Amino acid sequence: MEANPDPRPTPIGRTVLVVEDEIGLGRLITRVLGEEGYEPRLESRGDVALETALADPPALVLLDVALPALNGLEVCARLRQGGFIAPILMLTARDALADRVAGLDAGADDYLVKPFAFEELLARMRALLRRHAQEPERLTIADLVIETGTRRAWRGGRELSLSALEFRLLEVLVRHSGWVLTRQQLLNHAWGYDVAPASNVVDTYVHYLRRKIGDTRGSSLIHTVRSVGYTVRGS
Ligand code: CA
Repeated sequence: MEANPDPRPTPIGRTVLVVEDEIGLGRLITRVLGEEGYEPRLESRGDVALETALADPPALVLLDVALPALNGLEVCARLRQGGFIAPILMLTARDALADRVAGLDAGADDYLVKPFAFEELLARMRALLRRHAQEPERLTIADLVIETGTRRAWRGGRELSLSALEFRLLEVLVRHSGWVLTRQQLLNHAWGYDVAPASNVVDTYVHYLRRKIGDTRGSSLIHTVRSVGYTVRGS
């Protein structure tokens, strides 16, 4: 059977993570977003929202600043550290300049002060999504497709579940397909900092990655090049 030419069954750009601990307001926002054709999900705790957004990245995050467990600024900063690239719109009760600056410093794209008009919220969301909506870059090798902007990947039309680090490693390999990359090159590209060259962390992650992408003896994409490193080839 042919691989699904478009492995993405539904248009991206409609999933919104709403992080709001005022439950009434959170429910109101999700209801309005649902009526506007978005697919909202509500979380009330900062720490849970952080995990959720990294595990299953939405197209946009609406993020309250004052939250239990982990405040919105922390959530925002940690999302960016974790490689989260979708737009983040911060919501705050205070119009203090210091708060706005802190939010933008933490990696937010925009800021809205409560109470806000829903028309304005929706307009700002549309603007952020438009700005972010350049056609996502897709890299394909054999039956593997990766979408760099959304950090999603498919093999044979089936979506893969990869951690942020596994995705970066796969992306580096696919971008350089046909080239042999040394362990040190992979460390530099995917980890982005100096790790002791003797460390076998690359081998460990390549092993995870092979399992996740379903490499088998007969149909493997990641090939070991003895005493050098790894390469990705379609055949
Ligand atoms: Ca709050």
